[in-house]
Amino acid sequence: MSQQVNANVDANVDQYVVIGHPIAHSKSPLIHAMFAAQTGQTMHYDRLLAPLDGFVHSVQAFRAAGGKGMNVTVPFKLEACALADQLTERARMAGAVNTFKFEDAQIVGDNTDGLGLVNDIVQNAQFSLTGKHLLLLGAGGAARGVLLPLMAQQPASLTIANRSIDKAHQLITLFGAHASATLLKAAEFSQLTSAYDVVINATSAGLSDQTLPITPNIFSANGLAYDMVYGAQPSAFLQMAAARGTQTRDGLGMLVEQAAASFYWWRGVMPATAPVLFALQQSLKVGG
Ligand code: NDP
Repeated sequence: MSQQVNANVDANVDQYVVIGHPIAHSKSPLIHAMFAAQTGQTMHYDRLLAPLDGFVHSVQAFRAAGGKGMNVTVPFKLEACALADQLTERARMAGAVNTFKFEDAQIVGDNTDGLGLVNDIVQNAQFSLTGKHLLLLGAGGAARGVLLPLMAQQPASLTIANRSIDKAHQLITLFGAHASATLLKAAEFSQLTSAYDVVINATSAGLSDQTLPITPNIFSANGLAYDMVYGAQPSAFLQMAAARGTQTRDGLGMLVEQAAASFYWWRGVMPATAPVLFALQQSLKVGG
């Protein structure tokens, strides 16, 4: 059964949801409520639990009820890409959609994950990626989504390492033509022996308490280690990096920044992300 949304909400207020399975943990309603309050936008944003085999039906029902837009999370980003009538270039390249806008007869799909990551690194952490040597761990949906925005920063090289190496090679083939200023490479985990300026963990290993087969030698003292996963405690990946003196950052900022990019696309107003990120960090510290 899909979860009933907004049963008591004013039909004149623009409706948005984040759709996923599971969805109860999602911080997106909190983030968008803070954005709306801050920018004076009249809108309502809720969670929508879709059955694993009922994504398309849930989207259509929400749209038929007048919904204006949607964020899409695990495990529906690929299905969302297939469902869209129109895709932005970055969503098409990523092969994954995390944001829908419902425009008259059209479902338009975008992917703001990559922009979220890059904005968090470059603007929030003030760490330039230009001319740097980057290592991206993982070749799943999140990795695909961040490749174009990362290459737009013109790093000197970008190495993709993945447990299933064929997927890393596929990404090199797919994105090679967009890597004009960047040397794009694939590598096995066992081949990662030297240091990179920036190491980004885009695997889901940490979610199931699995450790990655990496050596601390991949982290450099003046570099940055970024884990897309976030939590109250630093992940094993970030702890390993911190022990090398590397600056560390978790994915909470990426979450807020991708939400801001969605909000801007829907509402035409860019919210300030710093106070929202600060509020979320504080709430995580007290177990929120
Ligand atoms: P996918 O399921 O598409 O991809 C998972 C990736 O993790 C694959 O590359 C997979 O390798 C790898 N992997 C899983 N387990 C292991 C392991 N034990 N050892 C080595 N590699 C492993 O997931 P997504 O790409 O969608 O998401 C990846 C992570 O990013 C998730 O933790 C997600 O929560 C996070 N994320 C955070 C966001 C944010 O805003 N902060 C936004 C989007 C994602 P293989 O191909 O070999 O199976």
